[in-house]
Amino acid sequence: MKKAWSILPEEWKPILAERGLRPFRADQVLQSLYRDYITDWDQATTLPKDFRETLKSEFPITKAEVADVSASSDGTKKLLLRMEDGNCVETVLIPATGRFTQCISTQVGCAMGCAFCASGARGVVRSLTADEIVAEYMSGRRVGEITNIVVMGMGEPFANYDETMRALKLINAGKGPNLGARHITISTCGVVPGFARLASEGIQFELSVSLHAPNDELRSQLMPVNRKWPIDELLNACADYTRATKRIITFEYTVIKGVNDSRACAEELARQVRRVPMAKVNLIPLSPVSHRPDFKTPDERTMLMFLDVLMKHGVQTMLRRSRGKDADAACGQLRLRHLDA
Ligand code: SAH
Repeated sequence: MKKAWSILPEEWKPILAERGLRPFRADQVLQSLYRDYITDWDQATTLPKDFRETLKSEFPITKAEVADVSASSDGTKKLLLRMEDGNCVETVLIPATGRFTQCISTQVGCAMGCAFCASGARGVVRSLTADEIVAEYMSGRRVGEITNIVVMGMGEPFANYDETMRALKLINAGKGPNLGARHITISTCGVVPGFARLASEGIQFELSVSLHAPNDELRSQLMPVNRKWPIDELLNACADYTRATKRIITFEYTVIKGVNDSRACAEELARQVRRVPMAKVNLIPLSPVSHRPDFKTPDERTMLMFLDVLMKHGVQTMLRRSRGKDADAACGQLRLRHLDA
C-alpha cells in the first residue's frame, strides 16, 4: 500500500502498468487528484468502479481533518489539521494583494528548541510524511487558489529532508499541482548539511535562513542548533549555496525587545550577512508566545533603526509585519493551545 499523495506524477504510469492498466488511466488519476482535487476515490467518477476500488485499497488518499479554524481580522486563516494517527499540525493561509500564501508544517512539533518559538516548546513528536505534507497543501487549496508556499510552519524542513523534498517536488510537478518552484520558499534554522543537498537538487526553490542573532554567543542562547553549526559554518554553507545555485538567500531576523535589538547587533548583523553574496534580510517583530512572557515585541522605532543601519551598509532589507496576530498565528501556537486545553 502506498499513499496516493506520495506518488510523483511520473511514477503513476509504471505503477499502474504493473497492474495491467493502460497508460491513459494514469492521466485520469492525475486529473482526479490534481485538477478535481478529490479527497476520496469515490469522487473520481470518470474512473470505472472496479478501478476505484483498486485505488482505494492500494493507494489511499491521506486524510487530514480540519479540527479547528482560527480566523484573524486581517484575513489570515489558520487551520489545525488532524492527521490519521490523531496528531495535529497547523497550516496558515495568508491573503495579500495578488497573492495567496500558504505556510506549511513539516513535523509535529519541532526538535530545534528555539527559545522564542511555540512549535519547539514541547519538542518533536514525529516528522510528517510526504503525503501528509501534500494533504496540508490540499486543505489550503480547497480554501482558495494558493499562489505561494512558505515552509515556515511547525518543524525543521532540513531535519525531515527526504519527505519534505518529495512533497515539494510533487506540488511543483507540471502534471501535479504545478506550483512554480520560485513560488515555494524553504526556511531552515541552519541545519548545515541541508544546504549542499538542496543545491544538488537543481530546483529553483527559494531559501530562507533563520538567523535571529549576529554572533555565536547570542545565537546559541536563542537557537540551540547554533551549538552544532555555529555562524561561521552556517554562513560558509550559505555562500557555497549561493555560488553553486546563483540563487539569493534571505535571512530572517526576528527582533526581540532588549535581546537582539541593539544598534550594535544591527551593525554586526550587517557585517555578517555581507559575507554571503546577494543576501537579503527580512526583519520581523517578535510575535509574543505564551511560554516566554519575558520576550516582548520591539517598538516601531527600533525596527526602523535596524532597517536604517542595514540599509546604510548596503544590505537589501525588508520590514515584515506579523500577520494573523489575533489568530495565534505564530507557528505552533494553535497546536499548543489545543494540547493545553
Ligand atoms: N524551522 C524553520 C521553519 C519554521 S519557523 C526555521 O527555523 O526557519 C519559521 C520562522 O518563524 C523562523 O524564521 C522562525 O524563527 C520564526 N518564528 C518562530 N517563532 C516566532 C515568533 N514568536 N515570532 C516571530 N517569528 C518567529
